[in-house]
Amino acid sequence: MDYSLVVNGFGNAFLQEFGCPCPRCARKEPVANVSVSIIGRDGNDREIRWHALVDVGLGVVDSLRNTFSPDEARVDWLLFTHWHPDHSLELNRLGETMRRTARRRGETFSRIPTWCRSGTGKWLARNYSYEWYRCLDGRPSKESEPPGALLDPIPLGTEGIKVTPLSVSHSGADFNPENFKETQYNCACFVIQTENRKTVLLWDLDNRNDWILNPRTEGQKKTVELLSGADTLFLDCFSWTVEEVVGFSTGHLSFATARKYARVLRPAETLLVHMGGHEEGEGNPGWGWTDRQWEEGASKLWSAEGLPGTVRVPAMGEEFPL
Ligand SMILES: [Zn+2]
Ligand SMILES: [Zn+2]
Ligand SMILES: [Zn+2]
Repeated sequence: MDYSLVVNGFGNAFLQEFGCPCPRCARKEPVANVSVSIIGRDGNDREIRWHALVDVGLGVVDSLRNTFSPDEARVDWLLFTHWHPDHSLELNRLGETMRRTARRRGETFSRIPTWCRSGTGKWLARNYSYEWYRCLDGRPSKESEPPGALLDPIPLGTEGIKVTPLSVSHSGADFNPENFKETQYNCACFVIQTENRKTVLLWDLDNRNDWILNPRTEGQKKTVELLSGADTLFLDCFSWTVEEVVGFSTGHLSFATARKYARVLRPAETLLVHMGGHEEGEGNPGWGWTDRQWEEGASKLWSAEGLPGTVRVPAMGEEFPL
């Protein structure tokens, strides 16, 4: 099996806001929340014979329709970084479409094996109880390790690829659904390894992940080592400089912190995802920026500061080998 990665979307939580005059909200091309597909091709026809979907926010099912021919449509695993709506809102659409596809093919639908962290499993069962019980075969990780901890690799049941989750701080999602005052670490990022390449998915984390810059424990050092030297690093970049709005963390990285993380993680290529820019305030750098402007602004600073490798914004539907 040959594995590759397809970009289903890279938009921020709110995509295009109704009533916002900024150029980013005015664009006409299709957009989707951040999500990727890990696909395996096999046989002489190079058909897609395995598929793990990472996150299923808005627009993701339309992206999948562009990647898969009707015969290839399948989801072997669903992996969640966390429970936030922009990573789960099309769960109903995905689950129901796969149930109907099975019926159309005369097959029995089997619920989709789903990996997430324990707390995210509780959130999903609560927010999407119909889909959780009817469409998914939830296999939560049964832990709530602190940020910087490596978690057990996901038992994907396919050869030649390893996906290792790790715990990150993402303040807006790190609490117990039964008691909002209780901190619980619910969010994961993923390291994808094949024989040839390492790809890191680092989105939906905040600027409190100091363990990346300054790992103290043996465990944190091991995690940073695993994150380091990736061929491709997907990196959260919600804003240009702002990380707090009216005293609250945005829950994300600004490009300022993203650069600090990239400097220590030394990827060959950095792909910026989850861009927003509204937080900057009208008229400031980042506000309303199009993807092209993000890319230009980022590349300029990247080379001025001698940061490792290259930086760019990915394209919808872009596929590259793993
Ligand atoms: Zn998000
Ligand atoms: Zn806008
Ligand atoms: Zn989030």
